[in-house]
Amino acid sequence: MTKTYTGKCLCGQITYTASGSPIVVAQCHCEECRRLSGTGHTVGAMFASEVVAVSGKLSEFSYSSDKDSQVTKVFCANCGSPIYGTNTRIPDHLTLSLGTMDDASGLYIEVVIFERDKPHWDRLGQDVVFFATQPDWKPES
Ligand SMILES: [Zn+2]
Ligand SMILES: [Zn+2]
Repeated sequence: MTKTYTGKCLCGQITYTASGSPIVVAQCHCEECRRLSGTGHTVGAMFASEVVAVSGKLSEFSYSSDKDSQVTKVFCANCGSPIYGTNTRIPDHLTLSLGTMDDASGLYIEVVIFERDKPHWDRLGQDVVFFATQPDWKPES
């Protein structure tokens, strides 16, 4: 049985389905991914473009990678959520932002790339307190 992954953007205007298993799930710390995400990395699942169907109004931004390929980042035109990216170096494939997936069960990060560009703060230290969800914390007044 072929597994189908579904996802959507923050505002819900963009929805997508992807069938089958991703080719790879990667975490990337490159400068572009950091600026795109506003945090220390992106996590993406690469699929063949033909197994992915996206609906809704998209907006995109392209730039040249340092390997001289053309990278295109595709967003929801309304809320700006990063939906997927393409790279002319790997034609006919796209990489879906894993955080937009409704249920990524069974998927795990297989590779971390651009580790050298990882900000020192992008990790969980051994002595941090963490919460599984939003804590009931409020700033002291
Ligand atoms: Zn949206
Ligand atoms: Zn990157």
